[in-house]
Parts: sequence; C-alpha cells; structure tokens
Amino acid sequence: MLWSFPVGVIAGTVIKIHMTFFLFLVWIGGMQWSVAGAGAAVQTIILIMLIFACVLAHEFGHIFAARRYGIKTPEVILSPIGGIANMERIPEDPRQELIVALAGPAVNVVIAAVLFLVLGANFSATDLTRIENPAIGLLAQVAGINVILVLFNMLPAFPMDGGRVLRALLAMRMEYAKATRIAGRIGQAAAIGFAVLGLFWNPILILIAVFVYFAASAEIEAGAAKDLAAGIMVADAMVVVVETLPAQASLADAVDALVRTSQKEFPVLDGQGHPLGLVTREGLIAALGKREGPPPDVSEMMLSDIPRIKATAPLSEGMDLLMRSGAPALFALDARERLVGLLTRENIGEMVMVRQMRPDWRFRRT
Ligand SMILES: [Zn+2]
Repeated sequence: MLWSFPVGVIAGTVIKIHMTFFLFLVWIGGMQWSVAGAGAAVQTIILIMLIFACVLAHEFGHIFAARRYGIKTPEVILSPIGGIANMERIPEDPRQELIVALAGPAVNVVIAAVLFLVLGANFSATDLTRIENPAIGLLAQVAGINVILVLFNMLPAFPMDGGRVLRALLAMRMEYAKATRIAGRIGQAAAIGFAVLGLFWNPILILIAVFVYFAASAEIEAGAAKDLAAGIMVADAMVVVVETLPAQASLADAVDALVRTSQKEFPVLDGQGHPLGLVTREGLIAALGKREGPPPDVSEMMLSDIPRIKATAPLSEGMDLLMRSGAPALFALDARERLVGLLTRENIGEMVMVRQMRPDWRFRRT
C-alpha cells in the first residue's frame, strides 16, 4: 500500500506503518500539549509507544486467529483506524470470519480489563471522556484508548472489524455475496453519517468517512466479482501463453516478439520451463529508450517479483492475489512448477463479462 513503510517482522508478518497513523499521533500529542504544556511531552511519547503496542496486539489477535484456520498474513499496516492485516485470504466460512474479526477487539477488551483491575477504584467512567488529559494517569489513558479502539473497530462498517462481524452474521443466514452487499451498503451509510458528524464536531471524521466509503465500495465490488468467479479455476480463466522468451534472449528478440504477437507480457523461462520473470511492454519500451551502454538482455529488464499460483487453484484466490500484489499478471503453474499460463486483470474482466450475462456459464478450457 502507498504511504506506508516497513519497521519490523513478527512471526513471519512484516509490520508497516501508514503515514496517517503519525498524523493521528500528532493530533493526540497536540491536544495534550494544549492541555498540559510541553512538560507532558515525555509522557506523550510513552503514551504513543503504548498505543502503538495496543494496536499491534489487536492486529496480532486477528493474525493468530487466522493462523488457526491455516491462513498466513504476509504484512500488517498500522493506521489510525486500527490497522489492516493483509491476510492471504479471508476465511469463507462465516463462523471462521466471525472469530477472526472478533479476535482483534477481544485483545483490547482483555488489555482494558486487566488495566481496570490494576487501577481498581482509581478510575471513573468520566475519565473515558478525557483520556487526552495526562492528569488521569498513564494506565488510565491506555485503558481508555483500548475502550475507544474496541468501540471504533466494532462500528458496523468495512474496513472496520464490525463490518466483517456484520457480514459474517448475515452470511450465516444468506448467500455470501448478498451478505457482502448489505454489509457494504450499511458501511456506506455509516460513512455518510461520519461525514455529517464531522462537519459539526471534528474534521478528522470526514477523512475517516472518505476512507470508510471507499473501503465499503471496494468490498461490494470485490464481493460481486468473487461471486461471479465461484466454481472457476485459474486454469479456466488464464491466458494460455503462446510466446515466451529464454533467459538469454536479447532486446531485439523481445521487440520481435512484441511486434509479431498480440501479447503485451512475455514470460521469461529457464530451460525447464520454470518462470524467471516477466517482460512487459512498458518495460521493453523503457529499455529501448536507454541508449548508452550495451543493449540489455531480457533478464535485466524483466520484473522478477511476479506472484505464482497453481493453475488448479480457485480463481477467487488468484483475484485476491492479483489485487493485493498490484502485479501486472500472475504466473499460473502446473504441479511441477512449470508455467502453463498468465492470469491478468483483462482475463478476469472477460470472465466477469461472460458470467454477468450467463451466471451459470461453464468454461471448458480444461
Ligand atoms: Zn481489527
């Protein structure tokens, strides 16, 4: 995701921080500065580190719950609305999605409960309305922030956990796609509510509203496309590659292939048919523009971080991977890891067009 950068790795998950998380911290810090003055700066920094830890603990609640169902999480992005754990896939069983969605807020409930026990009578409900005030004590502040994290994340709108909880509960009673549509519409309505509230109360809410609105819309669209992909394998929708290039191919070979065929992407293969990378039309044109030095061969101009997927995998998995990676295409592989096809956005678009007209159309390439 744009606007985020990596800071570390825990249990195989890369931790990235979104820029807006810092804006949120600056906002909290600024509030405290105006209330308590510069002397509270040290406490602010400690508080910031503790908030960071609580949000991270929340995300790892999701991540470890998902792992129970065999789902890995390559990265987690921390943002002001609680962070986004980019899992390999969302569990399709609504009961599993419910547990994964609830596991994050549950961590914050536990943290708050433990702190309330430690604080005992030294904490009153009114402290929750003034957690920016260091006078209530650091532990009370952290407890209050955990309560807010729970309330905020349980709002019934994508991408908040509450949106997923809502979808999972709906999906237990109806089709998954319909549940996504209804949960998405509720999320869009909530976003409009935030925006209106933001006009009168706090402009930060308007920013959140925009974020929530687009997340809800994207979820509705992805849900609809996934529904159309039901029962289709990657192999049914992929382009069967006609033209490939060997690793030693020259710039001239690649230009030949581009002009001679209607392909826009050319897989580069080793001697056994395993893919090494992908030469795109844009990459090729850019290589032609470089006039100094010896002409590059294809191994220098190819993209080597193209994600791979089994041709027998469900198409919905390929769509997830393509969307999340931002790659121009996926390599579809056979059981021996040899390239058998390419999955591109264009293929998926064509499949969606066919299925929109004929929802029960059987693709028969395999
Ligand atoms: Zn969460």
